[in-house]
Amino acid sequence: MPGIGVIAGSGLYEMEGVRIKEIRRVNTPFGLPSDGYHLCEFDGIDVAFLPRHGAPHRIPPHKVNYRANIYGFRELGIDRIISVGATGGLKPSVQPGSLVLLDQVVDLSSGRESTFYDGPEVVHIDFTEPYCNRMRGILRDAAASAEIQLRPVGTYICTNGPRLESAAEVRMLAAMGGDVVGMTGMPEAALARELEICFSSVAVVTNLGAGITGAKLTSVEVIDTMRASTEKIRNLLRAAFPLLAAWERDCACREALKGAKM
Ligand SMILES: [Zn+2]
Repeated sequence: MPGIGVIAGSGLYEMEGVRIKEIRRVNTPFGLPSDGYHLCEFDGIDVAFLPRHGAPHRIPPHKVNYRANIYGFRELGIDRIISVGATGGLKPSVQPGSLVLLDQVVDLSSGRESTFYDGPEVVHIDFTEPYCNRMRGILRDAAASAEIQLRPVGTYICTNGPRLESAAEVRMLAAMGGDVVGMTGMPEAALARELEICFSSVAVVTNLGAGITGAKLTSVEVIDTMRASTEKIRNLLRAAFPLLAAWERDCACREALKGAKM
């Protein structure tokens, strides 16, 4: 039975039509996930939600056990994951409140456990397209049917945090081709690929990067915009779940390890 997983902030599962059936604790060879998996039902469709930072929000981005989080999903039979995360816009055209369907990533995080293959087995997965293209298409269709504005492409730059960026860093990241900057997008995407799980990501723009507007950034501003965007995300997910549940995986993610092992 294929399963849909969602990694996001805590509380996203508290939405109309979604019933929490069970909170399942999973132990993995890589340690404990951020929280229990909230096994939910939406219109007959099973969906597992995981609060990335635990509940309440208590694990900073550089301390999240990304390996355990992704591995736990696989233990539950999840083979398609939607990840939702807060980001800063790197250019004025990526305004706070907008949703970006990511298609590329640059990983500038450091010191994180970022692979399931620490040896002796050596694996180099292909990461030309870091997000599942078929899932991206489904999310675009879902957004169109629910009349939600979704920027169809975007490059995510992952910093280590937890501090925000300097104005010069924001200029550099924009010059590198980034559209949004965040602290949790990696290694999530790569770990899912290593387990041959389809993975897609929607970035919520909560603020403009440092120096773009000249105003000081605060967590309050981020939380307020995230809250305002939550209903849009919920509507997008509600529209996406039936499409994702009906989808038979036919993409390269299923065979990501083929030819990747040394
Ligand atoms: Zn895929």
